[in-house]
Amino acid sequence: MRAGDGLCDEAAVGVLVEEGPRYVGELLEWGARFDRDANGQPALGREAAHSVRRVLHAGDATGREIGRVLWERVRALPTVRVVDHALVTELIVTGGRVEGVVFSDREGYLQEARAAATLLATGGAGQVFRETTNPAVATGDGIALAYRAGARVADLEFVQFHPTALNRPGAPRFLISEALRGEGARLVNDRHEAFMARYHPDADLAPRDIVARSIARESDGTRGPVYLTLAHLDEAYVRRRFPTIDEMCRGVGLDLAHDFIPVGPAAHYVMGGVDTDDWSRTSLPGLYAAGEVACTGLHGANRLASNSLLEGLVFGARAAVAMREPPRAAALKADRIVARGSWLTVRDDHHTRGSASQLRGAGLHPSRLTADAVRDLMWRSAGLFRTRDDLQSAVRALDRAQAQAFEPGLEGWRLRNLVTVAGLIARAAVRREESRGGHFRADFPTRADRSWRVHIVDEIGC
Ligand SMILES: Cc1cc2nc3c(=O)[nH]c(=O)nc-3n(C[C@H](O)[C@H](O)[C@H](O)COP(=O)(O)OP(=O)(O)OC[C@H]3O[C@@H](n4cnc5c(N)ncnc54)[C@H](O)[C@@H]3O)c2cc1C
Repeated sequence: MRAGDGLCDEAAVGVLVEEGPRYVGELLEWGARFDRDANGQPALGREAAHSVRRVLHAGDATGREIGRVLWERVRALPTVRVVDHALVTELIVTGGRVEGVVFSDREGYLQEARAAATLLATGGAGQVFRETTNPAVATGDGIALAYRAGARVADLEFVQFHPTALNRPGAPRFLISEALRGEGARLVNDRHEAFMARYHPDADLAPRDIVARSIARESDGTRGPVYLTLAHLDEAYVRRRFPTIDEMCRGVGLDLAHDFIPVGPAAHYVMGGVDTDDWSRTSLPGLYAAGEVACTGLHGANRLASNSLLEGLVFGARAAVAMREPPRAAALKADRIVARGSWLTVRDDHHTRGSASQLRGAGLHPSRLTADAVRDLMWRSAGLFRTRDDLQSAVRALDRAQAQAFEPGLEGWRLRNLVTVAGLIARAAVRREESRGGHFRADFPTRADRSWRVHIVDEIGC
């Protein structure tokens, strides 16, 4: 509740806390292999904003282990038909109800899958930003699909920027997990001084948004890079505990146990998403959402480290229960307000006349709209430090981009999704005139509970 900066949905937190152990137990029964200590007890890790060690882990690839177990279970069920390499391009909506999906199959042919209940589990949207830890598939498709079909989306201004992605020119921005700092790794500036205690009492284990902005400020102040160092820790333990990160570092010529590892912030997790109730129902009957694509409100304005996999486990299981009941729409929760009117979207005459130059000014060239240009714009305008002017010009540019014709085919379709999700994030960020969790407005740097302790929902046509 503290890490979520005053905006965690208490009911959703209650569900996670009450039901989490049951589903973790089920995973263990099904053969999940988490690390154990010398006495055979579960080895628990600690990450930012945790007051105790609480994280089960499988080396440094816990999600992969959970995925392995679940995948084996699904594969063994004769009633499940799996269609590999299918890209969902549209939700089928009839009379306000979702009745399945249109997808492009592995050969590129469009197919339909009709269903009484459809679950979106399409993951996050980190690819909307130039710097991200997310895989290439995290383009926010589920958010765009649901929004275009008329579902409510919520809290999209809240993006978590992970403080420590590898920051080495030419190398991929892979994640240097927070668990390293949980085990004693320290952030240092280019004079090799530890600096986090100057920014927050919890120093290296302060909440993610604070560490991310502190790194950016320290780097600006010293005009040099920021590093993570593990050189004071036991080398054998470092290599045993973090084999994947060790190998990735080696791949770019760095030694995790001895070298100063250059790190910097990158978009990591979207707290917002398709608005769901505590049973993963969306505002459209027949449509459900679970995992990172959903906004249960559980994470508030800033996700507590390690809660995402648990959320997928608990709310995915809850979706399965709800999907067996007759479809019905989720009611709007009491602490949500729906954004109405066009005050966010600047559609005045000046805008229409000046559109081409505004697009260019924002770095989106009208005749050469590319995913990279959108990502770059979002990193500059809706990244770690946001202001009204930057966000408004991004919203204008993205609105104009959205109105353009996209190339036919999957590439154009993905670009359109990216523009839709980027526009929703930028619009939500310009609207919230305060700073909270992952959302930092340099022009409104404090939290303002009286006006803003609410989740804000967008709906098409509002
Ligand atoms: C590097 C990294 C480390 C992390 N570490 C942790 C951690 O230690 N603990 C933790 O709790 N969380 C962690 N997270 C966050 C967590 O991994 C994600 O939030 C979580 O995996 C999301 O799960 P998901 O099932 O919602 O989506 P995903 O696991 O992302 O799966 C989404 C799937 O949907 C598919 N898809 C997307 N669009 C379409 C479409 N249009 N049609 C068909 N399929 C589509 C994708 O290809 C993908 O297979 C980490 C994230 C990253 C990037």
